[in-house]
Parts: sequence; structure tokens; C-alpha cells
Amino acid sequence: MIPFLDLKNINQQYRDALIEACTRVIDSGWYIGGQELEKFERHFADYCGTRYAIGVANGLDALILVLRAWKELGRLNDGDEVIVPSNTYIASILAITANNLTPVLVEPNVDSYNIDPLKIEAAITAKTKVILPVHLYGQLAEMPEIMQIAKKHHLLVLEDSAQSHGAEIDGKKAGAWGDASGFSFYPGKNLGALGDAGAVTTNDAELAQMLLALRNYGSHEKYKNLVPGVNSRLDEIQAAMLDIKLQFLDQEVQHRRQIADLYLTEIVNPLIQLPLEQIDAEQYNQHVWHLFVIRTKHREALQKYLAEHGVQTLIHYPIPPHQQQAYKAWNALSFPISEQIHAEVLSLPMEPTLSIEDAKKIAQLCNGFEV
Ligand SMILES: *Cc1c(COP(=O)(O)O)cnc(C)c1O
Repeated sequence: MIPFLDLKNINQQYRDALIEACTRVIDSGWYIGGQELEKFERHFADYCGTRYAIGVANGLDALILVLRAWKELGRLNDGDEVIVPSNTYIASILAITANNLTPVLVEPNVDSYNIDPLKIEAAITAKTKVILPVHLYGQLAEMPEIMQIAKKHHLLVLEDSAQSHGAEIDGKKAGAWGDASGFSFYPGKNLGALGDAGAVTTNDAELAQMLLALRNYGSHEKYKNLVPGVNSRLDEIQAAMLDIKLQFLDQEVQHRRQIADLYLTEIVNPLIQLPLEQIDAEQYNQHVWHLFVIRTKHREALQKYLAEHGVQTLIHYPIPPHQQQAYKAWNALSFPISEQIHAEVLSLPMEPTLSIEDAKKIAQLCNGFEV
């Protein structure tokens, strides 16, 4: 069986370095809020091209805490509207409702899967305060256009970069476009820890200060609490693991790109719609291929056929947020593009240890699929 994602294989590549770093942390006697975290935060901020990176417990907390910090700083109030893509992973939306803010769902472009800038403008009201674009599956949303809209309407921009570490347009990376960005280092993400972890990137010193307090009970100084904060910290051990894996991120993305190029050139089957990589002459767009997501009207049959031929695939995601039980009030609403995407998408194996031979085999199998 060609697995969809082989985390064990991925981490085995760095086994010696990871064990050495674990040993160093164990022997240091210092497990939270120390040099390992500081080092990783500095390296990750440098990598993204931002002034600050603030480690937190996971990607959802990164998004929740930015919105929370903006409320503490008086930039947002209860009930303000946040524009978010209707086909995102539910975490982006949970971060909004967790802060008593109002999500306004906006449809994506059906081929790039990212939020449609024209539809953002149409959704702006007097209550809109934030745009929360999600760089889905590894490709940046159309950030030059989105930042222009935000500027024109005086809106804050929070990027959800959980799937797009290192993705860029014109040399500017995920995390460096908006007023702030949330990253996840969940093990299966392109930069994955060996457990839960996340970070916020920003160039805003005031926001960075507020986040440092919020993640640590609202405390800047020991036993002094500015705001009622939470416990959302990135452990020394995970920071040490991430600092090692960050050194290999670009190399891993290169391999993902090679596989994507192979799929894009070798899969030729009218029943299968390939993902759109938005490249134009002016903008060099680097997709980091967190997922390789195809569309087909015959998803169940294709998934079954690939499984019978030894290829594991997954669906990201089977149910759109507005049809989830968690958001009952939206269940009667209609978002036809999202619904089409959720009904048709299938993710092919895509990971840094997938061999070119296996990728070729998968492409050939796709070409042999018929109904
Ligand atoms: C994974 C993910 C998150 C949440 O990250 P966690 O670390 O699992 O909390 C948020 N948004 C998107 C788009 C994600 O893919």
C-alpha cells in the first residue's frame, strides 16, 4: 500500500538530530519558556520574513489569540464581522466564534480552492473589521488583491497559514502579508512537530507584546496579570524538534514540488480535474503542496479504484462548515461552490518521502480510471 502520508518515515530522516536535541532538553532541566523556544521563534520569524514569531500550543490557539489580542487592544469588539472562506477547515471559523465575533462566509475560486477577492468586496458591511484568508492546501490566497481591499476599507488581515509554511508570491511568504498570521505545527503539516504546536507571526510590536502575555495567563511579569489570559505555550522539546525540521523545510517542499509537477504533467484523464497553480507573468507564486487535491464527479469510484490498486487517498474535507452540526444556524444556507468542492475533492498521496516511482505509478493508475 502506498500510504497517503508516512509520518514515521518523514521523522526517521532526522532521527539522530531529533534524539540529540531531546537529550539536550532533558539534560537542561528547563522545559518551558527557555532558549529552545527563543531560538526557534527567531529562526521561524527570519524564515517568514517577519519581526516576530510567538510560539503557542497549536494552530487553533494561534488564530484565537490574535483575534483575542485585537479585542484586548481595542481594535475589535463583540459582534464585529470577520470574512472567511466558506470551504476552509473548521478551525479558522472556530477561532472567530470563540471570540464572539461573527463569521461571514465567502465562496472560493473553484479551481484554486482559495477565497475569491471579488466576492470579499461584495461581502463587506459597516461591521466588517477583519479578513481571514486561508492559504488552503499550500497555496497563498490572492494576497496582493486582498491587501488592497483591506487597505481601501481599513480592515485588519489575519492569515491562516496552517497549511502553507514557506508558500510565497513575489518572494513574500505566508505569514508576512497580513497584520498577523497563525501557523500550525501539527505533525502532518508541512512543518510538523512531534505533537501539538503553533505560532503567530507579525510585524506589530504591540500585538506581539499582548500575545506574549495572553499565552501565559495574561502575565508579562511574573505574578502580574495585565489581562485574563490562557495557558497556550510551545514546549521546549517541541521547539527543539521544530528548529531541526525547519532546516529541511525548503528541501522537503522541493520534493513536494517535483511530485506535483509530475502529477500535473502526467495525469491526463478527462474525468479528473487537476488543481490550479495560479502563476501569471508578474507574480511568481510558490505553491508548497501541503495537499494535492483533484476533483472528480466520480469520487467514490476513484477512491475505491485507487485503494484496490494499493493507493491510499483522503478527502479534505467531506462536509463544509455551514453543513456541520456545530453551526446549525447555517445549515439551511447555500454555498454552491463549496458544496461542489466538498462533494468532488480527493487528495492524492503527497509527502516528502513519497518516491518518484510511486508518484508515477499513481499518475498511471489515475489515467487508467474509467467509469
Ligand atoms: C490544521 C489547521 C488549523 C489548526 O491547527 P491545529 O494545530 O490543529 O490547531 C487551522 N487552520 C487550518 C487551515 C488547518 O489546516
